[in-house]
Amino acid sequence: MTPLAKMEEYGHEEVIFCQNKDVGLRAIIAIHDTTLGPALGGTRMWPYKTEEEALLDVLRLSRAMTYKAAAAGLNLGGGKAVIIGDPKKDKSEALFRAFGRFVESLKGRFITGEDVGIDVNDIEYMYMETRYVSGLSPAHGGGGDPAPVTAFGVLQGLQACVQEKLGRDSLKGLSVAVQGLGHVGFNLAARLIEEGVHVIGTDIDPEKVERARSELKIEIVNPEEIYDVDADIFAPCALGAVLNDHTIPRMKFKIIAGAANNQLEEDRHGVELHRRGILYAPDYVINAGGLINVYVELEGYDRERALRMTRGIYYNLRRVFDISRRENIPTFQAADRLVEERIAMVRRLKSMYTGQVVHRFRWEMR
Ligand code: NAD
Repeated sequence: MTPLAKMEEYGHEEVIFCQNKDVGLRAIIAIHDTTLGPALGGTRMWPYKTEEEALLDVLRLSRAMTYKAAAAGLNLGGGKAVIIGDPKKDKSEALFRAFGRFVESLKGRFITGEDVGIDVNDIEYMYMETRYVSGLSPAHGGGGDPAPVTAFGVLQGLQACVQEKLGRDSLKGLSVAVQGLGHVGFNLAARLIEEGVHVIGTDIDPEKVERARSELKIEIVNPEEIYDVDADIFAPCALGAVLNDHTIPRMKFKIIAGAANNQLEEDRHGVELHRRGILYAPDYVINAGGLINVYVELEGYDRERALRMTRGIYYNLRRVFDISRRENIPTFQAADRLVEERIAMVRRLKSMYTGQVVHRFRWEMR
């Protein structure tokens, strides 16, 4: 399939191929949909084996960003970039500055930040050439580590799930199995303990396990045992594709709600959870706290505002559950429907008021 045919299939507006031989830059920027606002999405650096593989990844990831931003109620579209290269060997100031110039040339249609293989130092080099980056260090007006905000958002989502499934307002006395005790998982476990929840955790990294055991005093199980734990809620905060043919039949959980991206191995696993009566909080709705944090950074960072906006995840999930209940469809389909309706509504508004600016950012020189 040609790149244009692939763009058509995924519904992209624009894909930009960038190269600079002198600095070894080979990158692709994908702008999926800017109906709601500028396309925002991180830049990933990865040693893709082929150009096709890189293109497919950037198309898939940028489309997912459109859905995540729309579900969070933000005035942002979806985009993503990939740099083809090995983050351990191929990084240089020149490479990131050259890439930054490509981002600048899009004049704000695309705003980028960190993703796999990219860290805050690389972002600082991009920032030398373009204002259209976020995820800067706090010293440059950035919001810092988004994980605590993501964890706070997951907690709001858990409250919506418990209200929907168990008819309760409080998490007190419930049990939650947390998979992955990294940036988000550790923060989430700490917040859950404050809420009076019994937390059972796991991680493949012995250091993470030891930290959680000694600082949070939570119960620990082996990584493979987490799916069999007799807890009310499962919170995946490690990898994607953990909801699959091997894990779902083992689960006794009533609710699945966590931060990991792409939790369903395939859509049919979302259908299976619905059939079994397990309430699944669609990942891109519940884990939007990090994205909201970046959004707030674009307008001048304020942690209080980020947390206030992140509370909205509770209501966003309630809306998803309403659609799912009303139409008897799995929650992941209900979330997609919510997003598609919101984009269609804004598109109609824009066509009614041609020329009017519906969304606006205050771009201040930082
Ligand atoms: P992290 O790398 O800090 O933590 C992930 C943890 O999972 C690590 O400690 C790792 O050892 C552990 N892990 C990996 N495989 C495991 C397994 N099989 N069993 C148990 N533990 C395992 O990452 P993070 O920032 O905490 O993010 C966690 C997840 O949430 C990721 O999927 C990420 O994409 C998603 N997410 C994160 C944010 C954010 O703000 N950091 C925002 C949205 C989504």
